[in-house]
Amino acid sequence: MSKSFSGGIHPAYNKAMTAEIPIADMPLPDKVRLPLSQHIGAPCKPLVAKGDTVAMGQKIADSDSFVSAPIHASVAGEVVLVDDQAIEIKTDKEKSRFSGAAQSYNNQGELRQIIREAGIVGLGGATFPTHVKVTPPEGVTIHTFMINGAECEPFLTTDHRVMLEQGQEMIAGSKLLMEACGAEKTIIGIEKNKPDAIEHMSKLIADEPAFAVTGVQVKYPQGWEKQLIKSLVGQEVPDKGLPLDLGIVMNNVATAVAVHRAVEYGEPLLNRVVTVSGSGINKPQNVRAPLGTSVADLVEFCGGLKPEAAKIIDGGPMMGRALSTLDTPITKGTSGILVFNRDEVHLFSEDPCIRCASCVDACPSRLLPNYLALYVKREMLDEAEEINLMSCIECGCCSYVCPSKIPLVHYFQRGKQEINARNRNQ
Ligand code: SF4
Ligand code: SF4
Repeated sequence: MSKSFSGGIHPAYNKAMTAEIPIADMPLPDKVRLPLSQHIGAPCKPLVAKGDTVAMGQKIADSDSFVSAPIHASVAGEVVLVDDQAIEIKTDKEKSRFSGAAQSYNNQGELRQIIREAGIVGLGGATFPTHVKVTPPEGVTIHTFMINGAECEPFLTTDHRVMLEQGQEMIAGSKLLMEACGAEKTIIGIEKNKPDAIEHMSKLIADEPAFAVTGVQVKYPQGWEKQLIKSLVGQEVPDKGLPLDLGIVMNNVATAVAVHRAVEYGEPLLNRVVTVSGSGINKPQNVRAPLGTSVADLVEFCGGLKPEAAKIIDGGPMMGRALSTLDTPITKGTSGILVFNRDEVHLFSEDPCIRCASCVDACPSRLLPNYLALYVKREMLDEAEEINLMSCIECGCCSYVCPSKIPLVHYFQRGKQEINARNRNQ
């Protein structure tokens, strides 16, 4: 039996466009725009003012909150704008060289502090601060660390390429993360549509008794924490619970690489690998881009848009969001920029529900999407909450299979926002 979870879908994966092309390093852009909130948790406050000169890697924004992560200058240069949302830096290309030194630590607390100071967050898209994730609450013991190399979103191949090109750094980072959270072993979970990554990682851990590589079934959303844990160890994270309730901490491939670089070179998170792909881009590839680079600069580096390009998505096609401007910056959470041609962009109108239950079968969280949508449409938020609207992971499987083209996940996002607002007011 292939290792998997219940529910889920099999969309066209479309990864071949970029999966075999080595990561390209993008030259520094003329300007970067670094948003003050690039993570789940409290936004940062600026530590610099307009007119300041900053060095590459300098911390330029931070927060007193535990659930937050500082932001660093991804280029050297002059701060040209500071507002409530972001800091902009005009690049001094001559001076943009990072120099740091290996960081030493004496205990778990100091190691977690290095991870925090490097501004590292979950680079799979969740952007949860990594130092928080590896700090279990009092009394909780972590026994297993997991690396999420599933990368189940169609088109995206960043983790795939990072495993192939920076696998050794990933293993080194995983050892540090194991140490930070107190785990004794690491399981690396990779979808079976990346056999070269499974083979490569298996070779790299051949002499590492604490490590195992497991291939999991190709099925969306295999890369969700709870689904991947079910696939890897057969255990269910309790509803409203966390992996640490099972003694497990999971991180993404690139996050482990970032942790290694923070300790080995004193390097904060300055760039990330982004998949630029889709029918509307001239040169699809994975690009290592400085944080704060505009989508416009990234697209230009990839040969520009095709004349038929009609839609740009930040993230994957299942969970990403459509962009209205190319001025949007690449942030810590940007895993992909996808461009689609006119003939692939469909405008649907919603038909009535035919009660086929396809959405129920597809839901990996075992919810009743048809009823949830009905309740949200009728503003019956208590009823929606009762049948676990808040447990919806917004994976989009239900919308994908719905023959009536009901944008179910949009209703759930709206319903969750309304419930959160109501709870805050109460
Ligand atoms: S979006 Fe929510 S309701 Fe729909 S399939 Fe995913 S988890 Fe289930
Ligand atoms: S898949 Fe669509 S049409 Fe079928 S039950 Fe669900 S909401 Fe209704």
